[in-house]
Formats: sequence, C-alpha cells, structure tokens
Amino acid sequence: MIPITKPLLDESEAQAAAQAVLSGWLSQGAQVAAFEAEFAQRVRAPYACAVSNCTTALHLALLVAGVGPGDEVITVSHSFIATANVVRQCGATPVFVDIDPATYNLDPELLAAAISVRSKAILCVHQVGLPCDLRRILSIAGAHGLAVIEDAACAIGSDIRLDGTWAPIGAPHGDVACFSFHPRKVITTGEGGMLTTRHADWDRQFRLLRQHGMSVPDTARHHASDVVFEEYPVSGFNYRMTDVQAAIGRRQLERLPDIVTRRRALAAAYDRMLAEVPGVRIPCEPAWARGNWQSYCVRLPDGVDQQRIMQSMLDGGVATRRGVMCSHLEAPYAGMGVGSLPHSEQAHRRCILLPLYPQMTQGDQHEVVDALRLALVAERWAASAPREVA
Ligand SMILES: *Cc1c(COP(=O)(O)O)cnc(C)c1O
Repeated sequence: MIPITKPLLDESEAQAAAQAVLSGWLSQGAQVAAFEAEFAQRVRAPYACAVSNCTTALHLALLVAGVGPGDEVITVSHSFIATANVVRQCGATPVFVDIDPATYNLDPELLAAAISVRSKAILCVHQVGLPCDLRRILSIAGAHGLAVIEDAACAIGSDIRLDGTWAPIGAPHGDVACFSFHPRKVITTGEGGMLTTRHADWDRQFRLLRQHGMSVPDTARHHASDVVFEEYPVSGFNYRMTDVQAAIGRRQLERLPDIVTRRRALAAAYDRMLAEVPGVRIPCEPAWARGNWQSYCVRLPDGVDQQRIMQSMLDGGVATRRGVMCSHLEAPYAGMGVGSLPHSEQAHRRCILLPLYPQMTQGDQHEVVDALRLALVAERWAASAPREVA
C-alpha cells in the first residue's frame, strides 16, 4: 500500500522528545524559544512565535490585524476549511475569490473587484506549498490599505522571487505568515503552528494572546529571584506549543533542506512520467516560484469520474486524495460564492493529489503512475461500454 504521505521521523526526534520529557519542563519553555529562533533564522523573519497549530496562528494574525465583527476578509474558498473558519471566529465574513486555473492559487485579477468599504485584510494561501502571486497581491493590498496575512500552512521551505531576488516564504512578505506542523505538512510536531512577522508590536501581541493575556511568561517567573506578580491586560487564549513538540520541531527543521530537495526531485520525476499519460495535466510552477511540493496535484482528463479513478487506484494499493476542498460547498458556507467560483469547483472535482513523501522510491512512483494509467483505461472502457439493459 502506498499512502498519500508519511512523515520523516526517526530515533533523533524520539530522543529529542525524551530529553524534553526528562528535563522536567514540558510546557512552553526553553525548547519553544529555541525552535522560534531557529525557525526565524530559516525563513529570514525578524520575529517568530510558536503556537498550538496553524488555525490558532491564523486566528491570532487576524485579531492582531484588527479584524472584527462586521469586517470582510478576502480569501479563497479553495483551501482547507480552517482558512474560512478563522475569519468567522473573529466575527468577520470571508469573501471568496476564485483561483487561477493554472496555479490553483488566488487569481489577483479578481482581487480588486472583491474589495469593499468593509474589507479589512487579504488572507492569501500558498496552496499545497506553491507560493501565490504575492507581488500583485501586495501591490493591490498596499493601494487599498489592507493587511496581508499569508496562510503558509503548507509552505515551509518554499521560495518566491520578488524584485529579482529569491526569498523564503515566511520572511514574511505580507504582515504575517502562518505555518502548520500537522503530519500532513512537510515537517511536523504532531500538532503545531508558527507566526512570523516584521512588526515587533504584532509579535508582542501574539505572545500575550497565546497565553491567556498574561504579562509575564512562566519561564520568567520560574527563574526570578524576586517574587513576580503577573497581570492580565487583555483577555487571551491558551494557544501554546509544548516543549516536547518544539524539541521534535527543532530536529525536523534540521532535515528541512533535505526533505525539500527530495520532494522537488520526486515532483520532477512525476512530471516526466506523467508526460506520457494522455489527458492528465501536471501542476505548473511559475518562473518566480519554487514550491516545496507539499502535495502533487494532477488534473484528470475531461469526462472521467474522479471517484472511480480514486477507487480503482485504491484497489490497486495507491492512496490518493481529491482536489483541495472548497469551503463554499460545505454546510457552514453554503451559498457563499456559488456561481462565481467555477475554477475552484473545477479544481476540487477534477483534480486528484498523488502520494508524495521523501521515503518514496522510483519504483513507488512507477506504481502510482501505472495505477493511474490503468484506472484511466478502465474509465474509458466504462464510458464507451453500452449501458446494461435490465
Ligand atoms: C493544514 C492547513 C491549515 C490548518 O493547519 P492546522 O495546523 O491543522 O491547524 C490551514 N490552512 C491550510 C491551507 C492548511 O493546509
């Protein structure tokens, strides 16, 4: 069985976790601080703040950007549902913009038309790790005075070229970028998230809000020789990462360059193999973007049944997932954007994600491509077969 993904973990992560446990300090402490510093350095961000997952990171980002009841946040429906949910959590309304059918990322052409007097921020997504068109998004946001929050849940290790130079996603280019360390992403801490920002005051607020609005971190009180009384100037949340997770994250971060190199090589190999499968459209990467290939998304030929293809591949021992979901097709956002998001709906219904993880061999990849080829042959046969008569 070839799974859709498999985290790359070994004795090194296990030992890091064990050491954190045996140190006697399990909650947010020295390991979290070290992970934040190393992460900031990796993505060349002035500030990095660790939290419990990317959903809580996005929630804090929107709150600190000033998003509240009555506001609108422009984003895509074509994303994991957390992207839309966090807007609602702030009491605001997500306004869905369609994607570019070539990149599956927010189409900047459609952005200006979605801006209203209630718009507060743009929440753009680097979907499946492919950077979205930040150059054009930032220019439109700047002209309208909107904050830009990057949903970089999938995009650790991806790069973008802006003004002629390559920079890591997360530098950040908008006001803040939010990352996920869920096992479905490129590096993992089980659950975990990170916010990177250029604004010192935003970083201070993230730190305050992630631990109940408490003015003094636990570590500071623990190490103080004088009695310290804390204050609670704002009402906050418990969005902390633990030191056990951060210890694992530090090992994962060391592996990141190798993981991304390997994923890029695997994606290039898929490109070559799939060039020989008629009708299948391979993913495209603009010249100014270098993705981390968190997922490898192919569009199926016209007229084939997505579910039957996926079932046939599963029967052949290959797991796949359907194209990225659309929030407006789920109950909480039903009716929002219907009719105006054709490319989002098409990508969801016509694409499938193929297995991709660093431990994959070329043999595994051939197996995946053969399973797809076989499924397509069966599908063509099913489509052309005369209907059974009762
Ligand atoms: C995974 C994902 C999230 C949520 O991340 P968690 O860490 O699971 O909260 C948000 N946005 C996108 C685009 C994602 O892929």
